[in-house]
Amino acid sequence: MALMEQPGVLYVVATPIGNLEDITLRALRILREVHLIAAEDTRVTRKLLAHCDIHTPLTSYHRHTEARKAAWLVEQVASGRRVALVSDAGMPGISDPGHELIAACVAAGLDVVAVPGPSAVITALVVSGLPTRRFAFEGFLPRVAGERRQHLEALRGEERTLVFYEAPSRVLATLEAMASVLGDRPMAAARELTKKFEEVVRGRVSEVLAHFRAHRPQGEFVLVVAGAEPGEANAPPPPAEAPEEAVAALVAAGSSERDAIRTVAAEHHLSRKEVYAAWLERKRRADE
Ligand code: SAM
Repeated sequence: MALMEQPGVLYVVATPIGNLEDITLRALRILREVHLIAAEDTRVTRKLLAHCDIHTPLTSYHRHTEARKAAWLVEQVASGRRVALVSDAGMPGISDPGHELIAACVAAGLDVVAVPGPSAVITALVVSGLPTRRFAFEGFLPRVAGERRQHLEALRGEERTLVFYEAPSRVLATLEAMASVLGDRPMAAARELTKKFEEVVRGRVSEVLAHFRAHRPQGEFVLVVAGAEPGEANAPPPPAEAPEEAVAALVAAGSSERDAIRTVAAEHHLSRKEVYAAWLERKRRADE
């Protein structure tokens, strides 16, 4: 009797977020056994595979080709091939390419199997010390200051613990926006998790901000922020803060006048000149 052919499968395989020892035994076996590995950046995955002595063929699957390549990969799985999807780090599809391919395989009735492992969101959440029973993962905040502020405003009443990914170059601006929109809540900034310079800075938003003003943010960051106090969700939003008061709050939290004026101008959609004039006027009134 002829052996039944193995059906095609898409395996969604988590890879380490820093420490290579975090790859699972199952992930190693699947990566070795599949016909093809679809990788966000084949150069990054090639290094991991070389380290693990795996020689499976690779193809790229990144943001720019996501839709076109997904259709081709679905055909591969439909024709009986076993394909592993990996990203540069952590779980594919979590702030990484993957969702389109996974959704397309599901829509085509194909098998999608997770091979779980590290993901920065869960890793940071558990070491933050903040409540883990309910949390909201927000991925990356918008880069534009006004949009970032609006996004945070929509989260002001959220009672679940909030988890954000952030680039080191935007950590200070994001913490300043959090301090001014969400208030001075408990939080944790988890940096370089599982790596040599791993660090978790815990405290109020203003304390974490002060720490990273003194120590330039470097490496990969997850920001975990306490949810709103129960009942805060139904509270009316606080009155819009005058720009000069927002500058005063940032200066009191340790910002330089120059940085505070730049941040407030961006967040209030005003020119720096306007904010500076309002700030000077406030200082003049205070001196009277
Ligand atoms: N797919 C990944 C996962 O499952 O966590 C996330 C990919 S996303 C493009 C990269 C972001 O994840 C980084 O900018 C950082 O915010 C966070 N991140 C990844 N590795 C990290 C680490 N070792 N320590 C802290 N944050 C990390």
